[in-house]
Amino acid sequence: MSANLPLLRFAPSPNGLLHLGHAYSALFTWQAASQLGGRVLLRIEDIDLERCKPEFDAAMLRDLAWLGLDWPTPVWRQSQRFAHYSAAADQLRALQLLYPCFCSRRTIAAHASGTDPDGAPLYAGNCRHLNQDDIAAKFGRGEPVQYRLDMDRAMAMTGPLSFTLVGPSALDRPQIRYARPQRWGDIVLQRKQTPTSYHLSVVVDDAAQAITHVTRGRDMEAATDIHILLQFLLGLPSPIYNFHTLIRDENGTKLAKSRGSPSLASLRESGWTPQQVCAQLGFA
Ligand code: GLU
Repeated sequence: MSANLPLLRFAPSPNGLLHLGHAYSALFTWQAASQLGGRVLLRIEDIDLERCKPEFDAAMLRDLAWLGLDWPTPVWRQSQRFAHYSAAADQLRALQLLYPCFCSRRTIAAHASGTDPDGAPLYAGNCRHLNQDDIAAKFGRGEPVQYRLDMDRAMAMTGPLSFTLVGPSALDRPQIRYARPQRWGDIVLQRKQTPTSYHLSVVVDDAAQAITHVTRGRDMEAATDIHILLQFLLGLPSPIYNFHTLIRDENGTKLAKSRGSPSLASLRESGWTPQQVCAQLGFA
């Protein structure tokens, strides 16, 4: 692929069926690519081997093709790229930016020092100062371990961080935004069940796929600060970001698989056409 071609990506997780919120995000991304004269790569974000299922993966490809969208092959699947994420974690470990954390969910909640931008308990840093003997003892007992980023140490290395934002249209004038990753505290970068996390793998893959523009929902705006920090620490380029509005149901609630929002497959079965989906979502 040409080095100058704008490259965008659509990166769904196959842990359920796509609904209108995904369709909006996909159509927005393909529209932005066409405005920029670029292409969209499809990336399947399936690092959660328990929740992601091949049947959802297949259903996603079917739904996106039904909407009239296309993408180059091969499609990347994150489940095939764990070694790359481990290598990135090792790079951060070599900078002494990762530490092992043995805390349970309950301990994290009980000691929380507030909430993060998503409303989850903010880690109070209990394991940040464990000494080598404590760590060896916990490993010796086989306690499940996850690895966290030492946020203060990381921020001391980077200084103030910013990124480039456009929108709502991909052709709008770019603006500069400060990133405030501190508000997330010591985030987990390698989970107990997998040697990576969403944040680490998305940053590694956006760089590996040479993504120039990331379009994603506004609900991901705060998390982008983490991605900017990781890009800096790993020496990776930052794409331009564009956050789109979220599709809400009649009660104003964001659509979600977990809330049973109707899937594209069920709309298709009940007679909707792709043109009706596009019109409903405001795309020509
Ligand atoms: N897998 C994420 C999702 O489905 C991708 C979001 C992103 O990185 O833009 O929400």
